[in-house]
Amino acid sequence: MTQRKVRVRFAPSPTGPLHIGGVRTALYNYLFARQNGGDMILRIEDTDSQRFVPGAEDYINESLKWLGIKIDEGVREGGAYGPYKQSERRDIYREFVKKLLDAGKAYIAFDTPAELEKARAEKANFQYDASTRMSMRNSLSMPREEVDALIAACTSYVVRFLVEPGRDVVVDDLIRGKVVINSNILDDKVLYKSADDLPTYHLANIVDDHLMEVSHVIRGEEWLPSAPLHVLLYEAFGWSDTAPRFVHLPLLLKPDGKGKLSKRDGDRLGFPVFPLEWHDPKSGETSSGFREKGYLPEALVNFLALLGWNPGDDTEVMSVDQLIEKFSFEHCSKSGARFAFEKGKWFNHEYIMNTPGDELAVLMRQIMTDNGVNPDDFTAEYTARAFDMVKGRAELLPDLWEQGYFFFKAPDSYAEKDIRKRWKEDTPRIMEELIGVLQGLDDFSSKAAEPVVLQWIADKGYHLGNVMNAFRLAVVGQCKGPHMFDITELLGLDETVARLKKAIEKIEVPQN
Ligand code: GLU
Repeated sequence: MTQRKVRVRFAPSPTGPLHIGGVRTALYNYLFARQNGGDMILRIEDTDSQRFVPGAEDYINESLKWLGIKIDEGVREGGAYGPYKQSERRDIYREFVKKLLDAGKAYIAFDTPAELEKARAEKANFQYDASTRMSMRNSLSMPREEVDALIAACTSYVVRFLVEPGRDVVVDDLIRGKVVINSNILDDKVLYKSADDLPTYHLANIVDDHLMEVSHVIRGEEWLPSAPLHVLLYEAFGWSDTAPRFVHLPLLLKPDGKGKLSKRDGDRLGFPVFPLEWHDPKSGETSSGFREKGYLPEALVNFLALLGWNPGDDTEVMSVDQLIEKFSFEHCSKSGARFAFEKGKWFNHEYIMNTPGDELAVLMRQIMTDNGVNPDDFTAEYTARAFDMVKGRAELLPDLWEQGYFFFKAPDSYAEKDIRKRWKEDTPRIMEELIGVLQGLDDFSSKAAEPVVLQWIADKGYHLGNVMNAFRLAVVGQCKGPHMFDITELLGLDETVARLKKAIEKIEVPQN
């Protein structure tokens, strides 16, 4: 038998910002597609007009683009199986609803919301199924003429799937194995609503997966309960032989307890649950995003890849190419994955550490600008060297600024506690002397300057810690930062001297 071409789809509903769990689903689809030389489809499932949120589709596209999850076929990309937006496929669905009706696999139901409400009130655990359907108002329980008359009068109706009772339905899942469910627990799900001439999720999803020749349905665990119905739908259409394989991914759990990760957890513990910042068009509320917090997309991808999958050993840092190579469903877990956001920061630190300064310089342009610095006032080499020097101390991009701002801005103020500790009566004089020593150097590089300055301190019998810390206070504004002579080498003699002079003038010797 020839192997079927791998075709996977990410099928979000544009009902709000893409949740981080959805991003992981997209990522696993992508890794699997790339590993197998397959196609990655992006299908927009917008059949629920009530939950449609403007901007959500653009948000999905922008998020995937930022993360480097490339789409082969979709609304923007085009492709041979379009349209890729379900609201543009009404004619297709109508035809397939008719097929099911004609084959007696589905039926028309007229029950109004009030009638359904009444049925629920009268019978505990009411379910629209074989045990109840003949007491409801539908094309199975009503005479043909009455049904025709109601349709002719444009009465709203729904089409329900006819679930045969007492059957074992097997969902064969590549992570979970065979899950058997008795059809008695399934209800006659609504597949189509005449009121808006649109199918429900179930019908549209199945029809599209079939028509788009999807080979694997990789999605979140929350969709597992729909899978038995989907199996029955494939069967009803006669498509069981080509039905896609199911892969239901483990849930993402709260970082500190049981239960599904929610936006509230993020707000409570201070981490984003969305890839990009999201501005809710209705409430005006802004939710934070990983991008704006200063995560690198490659780090987020690496972190997410390991939430529910492992490479079979304890390797953690992996490029996307390595992830593509190593990914497998065998190493996906059935149980939920805790969203350990601190680990996410650790990954980001690793990626910042491994990113060359010139690339960091590009990523930092916005943050520099936001802090009143024009990135173009500095050479690319200067900025790259500055961020290279401080990247060991950064978890998120803004930390790079926090750690290295003094390369771009001379201090305007000086840390009080460091002044108290280090700026003594004779410090201004010693700093004047230091200026002379620095100006006397032929070579201002860190390697050359350091021994000369240290020798001068020793010869004069000065207190090493006090002199070096006062020097640092004058140049950086506080007693922290990378190796002092590396800092001055990059700042250069003129800037270093100017900062010393400014400090001598501005810092008052504390009186105690
Ligand atoms: N539209 C569903 C969602 O929003 C798709 C579920 C599936 O992948 O089948 O996640």
